Amino acid sequence: MGRVADALRGVSMPEQTRRKVVSLDQEFSDVEAEIQSLKAENLHLKAQVNPLQREVDQLKERIQKAEESRADELTFNAHTGLYADASERLFCPTCWGEGKRHQLKVEAPWGWRCTAAGHYFHNPDAPKPHGGRGGGGGPNSWMTR
Ligand SMILES: [Zn+2]
Repeated sequence: MGRVADALRGVSMPEQTRRKVVSLDQEFSDVEAEIQSLKAENLHLKAQVNPLQREVDQLKERIQKAEESRADELTFNAHTGLYADASERLFCPTCWGEGKRHQLKVEAPWGWRCTAAGHYFHNPDAPKPHGGRGGGGGPNSWMTR
């Protein structure tokens, strides 16, 4: 017997009503059991969310750090032999080999100069000297660029 039936014990009522009360009692205790199990599940889920939230925060932090370090990364240009960062600033390959980041400035007419140690790098796209082999205004001459 459930609680409602207990409360109505001794009260006289038609048999049909009594059966209805018993069945409502059953429904009532099913719902109660369901609420208890949902409460337990809720607690369980809350206990899982906290560590997951921490993990998400840590992953976000790692992604941010990875993005920052990618911005710092230098790429080697096999054509010029120079290093460049994400914003295409050029860096001295000699100094970078020693772990130092020194920017290059353009040195007229066809090279770059290390701003810190004076290393000089020749631009491979510089025109051949006049009168040299293959010079003299062909389609690859710098004058046509
Ligand atoms: Zn240098």
